[in-house]
Amino acid sequence: MLPKAMQDLSDKLKYFPGVGTRSSQKLALDVIHLSPEKYDELIEAFSQARNNVGFCTQCGFFAQKNKLCEICSNESRNKTQICLVEKPTDVISMEKSQIYRGYYHVLNALISPLDNIFAENTRIGELFEHRLAGLTKLGDVEVILFFKAGFAGEATTAYIKELIKDRGLTEKIKISRLAQGLPMYYNPDTLDQATMARALEDRRLVS
Ligand SMILES: [Zn+2]
Repeated sequence: MLPKAMQDLSDKLKYFPGVGTRSSQKLALDVIHLSPEKYDELIEAFSQARNNVGFCTQCGFFAQKNKLCEICSNESRNKTQICLVEKPTDVISMEKSQIYRGYYHVLNALISPLDNIFAENTRIGELFEHRLAGLTKLGDVEVILFFKAGFAGEATTAYIKELIKDRGLTEKIKISRLAQGLPMYYNPDTLDQATMARALEDRRLVS
């Protein structure tokens, strides 16, 4: 029914998760109705995002390729706090609290021996070698854990605790985790500001 080019575009828009037949057809129609200027801007934005976005060389969050992210480049954030998260998108969830002003470190994976994921498959090594050494020189540091509930989060917490002990850093680094009360299988992507702020304010020391 639709011209072939439009049907093709509509089919390809379905590459995006959550875009079904109806919305992909609507988007295809919207693309056709864009002014030439807007169309060029859209294509340029696609290509910029695709070619220039990578991961922060320090924390692992999204950044311009091979550069520091906006958060790591911000000197005015609190250098005594570093929040550990599993995925770059978890940083976005934590930022929703609007009260956290520290830095981040993305681990890319949580330790889960049953899935063959060990410490060396995460960015824990980089945390200790490159980040904590520098931060602890400035003073005492709080490492805040923001992991989903479950075995992998527990295993990762235990490993980090052990490493801090082994390196004689227990005096300099305290570990806390976001308050219990987050649902067992919550989706960090959908947490709202109030929930995040409360979970952060009520965080507890990991004993
Ligand atoms: Zn960064």
